[in-house]
Amino acid sequence: MQSKRFCPSCGKTSGPFIRGICKECFLKEHKLLILPEKLELQQCRDCNKILLRGKLAEPSEAALKEFVKKHVRVKELVNETITVELQQRNDSEIEFRVMAKGFLESIPLLLERNVLVRVQPVQCDCCMRLKSNYHEAKVQLRGMKTEPAFNRLQELLKGLRKKDCLSAIVAVEKNKNGLDVLIGSRKAAATAVNQLKREFEAKVKTAFKLVGVDKKGKERKRVTFSVRV
Ligand SMILES: [Zn+2]
Ligand SMILES: [Zn+2]
Repeated sequence: MQSKRFCPSCGKTSGPFIRGICKECFLKEHKLLILPEKLELQQCRDCNKILLRGKLAEPSEAALKEFVKKHVRVKELVNETITVELQQRNDSEIEFRVMAKGFLESIPLLLERNVLVRVQPVQCDCCMRLKSNYHEAKVQLRGMKTEPAFNRLQELLKGLRKKDCLSAIVAVEKNKNGLDVLIGSRKAAATAVNQLKREFEAKVKTAFKLVGVDKKGKERKRVTFSVRV
């Protein structure tokens, strides 16, 4: 007569059994789902973007889940799928549930753990540069429609900021000729000026000024767009 199988750790006689012990005891002894209990996430206190792999990203739920997921490691399971669910959040902490499904020696397993993500407020490089009046472009608005053109310029730059974090106005100088608008990103300024040209039938003159040399020996130029509206 065949002796009945039992778990030598807890005495349980019902399976499934993995490597001689019951599933519960096996999972207690073997940590197959590996992730830190706490994770730190850097978020810019000015623009709210989060830092992922050294790059700025919108703080969407999908991006946060992706951040958690890349810290998860699953051992031994085959055909595993990992899902991350948001449990709860406040300003400084976000709790996630991590679930890994898969098979070990043909036995289906579900491994679950919670992880706490601590939000660490920082200032991103872009915001730091903008705060220190960094600008690659100057837009000189001249003419009768300076005010509406300025409002439109603000709108356009705001729209471009999602893709180009330096797309922002760092300073506005009012003088007798009109407005001088200093803008962080040269590319965003050029795009916005092109749009103003179309919408206001503006005349645009472009001038470059050498402002220095960067660390690689490349010339740094600042562009001035003179826009008559
Ligand atoms: Zn057991
Ligand atoms: Zn920022």
